Amino acid sequence: MISNTEERRDIRFKYHSPVPNSYRIPNPSKPLRNISDEVFEEFKKMAFEIGVAGLSYSKLSDDFKAEWNIDFDNVIILKYEMSPDFLYLEPSKEKCKLIDDEFQEVGGFIYDIADFLRENGFEANLLNPLDDEVSLRAIATQSNDCVILRSNMCLFKEGLNMGFFMLSTSIDNLPFKEENDMLWAAKYCETCGKCINKCPLNAYDENEKVLRKVCTAHSEGCNDCILNCPFFKKGYDFLEKKFKKKLVG
Ligand code: SF4
Ligand code: SF4
Repeated sequence: MISNTEERRDIRFKYHSPVPNSYRIPNPSKPLRNISDEVFEEFKKMAFEIGVAGLSYSKLSDDFKAEWNIDFDNVIILKYEMSPDFLYLEPSKEKCKLIDDEFQEVGGFIYDIADFLRENGFEANLLNPLDDEVSLRAIATQSNDCVILRSNMCLFKEGLNMGFFMLSTSIDNLPFKEENDMLWAAKYCETCGKCINKCPLNAYDENEKVLRKVCTAHSEGCNDCILNCPFFKKGYDFLEKKFKKKLVG
């Protein structure tokens, strides 16, 4: 569970609304571009102490920025584990509210991390987690640190039940990954199909696109896609070993 020493921010992210301006520190007028090892370690320590489960970094190409009409280059992805207690609840409006409350609460703490970076001379802005114009998943794939599965979910090594927030930043020397070593997972996913076959509402069309009008993930918090997925049930490391052993054997 994410926790924090600072006073809690009373914020609420909403669809079609700008990100709340809940920063306590303004962006520097001349943002720095290189973070020292020392400050970077402090940043990571703070993130993990707050409860962040993992960090990834996306460097956005000019083509990508032009495609999505955005003007920032570097993104920090802050992942948090969605509470397992909620995952096993039956879909309902109440469950949906619990998941949303957790998401909103975590979002409040991400401002502390943005303020830490600002205080140290870097630009840091929270990307709207509910933006329907820029795909955060598309930005996530630029990290080379995740794959999109057939359930349309973003798989990070930390697990399938990850929510995430993103900060755009002036920091150019983040540890960006050059290659994606998770592509095997997409291949495994192609051979599986459990989430599609077990969806209680048949919410996938013939092209395996999730039918938004049928799927109750957002309205009632259905997460059977996660619960039925081997990446959730057995874990990333176990499946990777099994998959690669099969290729060799
Ligand atoms: S259940 Fe199977 S097909 Fe569905 S996302 Fe997981 S690995 Fe892919
Ligand atoms: S979240 Fe639930 S309803 Fe939506 S596609 Fe997955 S299993 Fe089906």
